[in-house]
Amino acid sequence: MRDYDGSELPVGESSTDFAAVPDSFQRLWTPHRIAYIQDQTQPDTDDCPFCIAPTLDDEKALIVARGKTAYVLLNLFPYNSGHLLVCPFRHVPLYDEATDAEVAEIAALTQTAMRVLRETSRSHGFNIGMNQGVVAGAGIANHLHQHVVPRWATDSNFFPIVAGTKAIPRLLGEVRDELAVAWPRNH
Ligand SMILES: [Zn+2]
Repeated sequence: MRDYDGSELPVGESSTDFAAVPDSFQRLWTPHRIAYIQDQTQPDTDDCPFCIAPTLDDEKALIVARGKTAYVLLNLFPYNSGHLLVCPFRHVPLYDEATDAEVAEIAALTQTAMRVLRETSRSHGFNIGMNQGVVAGAGIANHLHQHVVPRWATDSNFFPIVAGTKAIPRLLGEVRDELAVAWPRNH
C-alpha cells in the first residue's frame, strides 16, 4: 500500500475493505499496527463502502449498531477515537432525498451515539454534521453519512495542520467492541 506521495506505508490496512471517508490526513497509529485486519481481498473500486459494510459481519465492517433504515459504524479514517458515521442502508447521496423514516432514524441514532460516546469515553463535546457533495468535502459523496466526532478539552483543533497527522491512541476494533457493548438494545 502506498501513500499519496508514492512512499510505502508501514501498516496493513486497506480502506477499500471497509466503510470509510478518506481525507488528507496521515495517521500515526499508536499502537500503529492494525493487527485485527487479516483479509486483504479488494472489492471493485466502484463499489460503495457504505453499501458493502452492512453485508459484512459487524466486527469486520466496524459496525456498532444497526437500525431498520440506518446503521452506525466507525470511520476508518477517524478524526478522533470514537469518530462514528450514521448512514442509511439505502444508497442515497443527499439529505433531502432521505425518507422521513431515514431522517428520523439517523437523528435517533445520532442522539444515541452521543450518549454512548459520553458514557464510554467521557467526551466533553461533539462535532456533528454532513458534507453534502464532493465540493463540500464529502469523501464518499454518493452515500449519505452523518459524522459524529467526540471532542475533548485537551484534543487538538478540528483542522490540525501540523504535519497533517493525527495521533489515534486506540485500535478501531477495540473501540468498536466497547461501543457495541454499551449501545442500548432498543436502538
Ligand atoms: Zn452506497
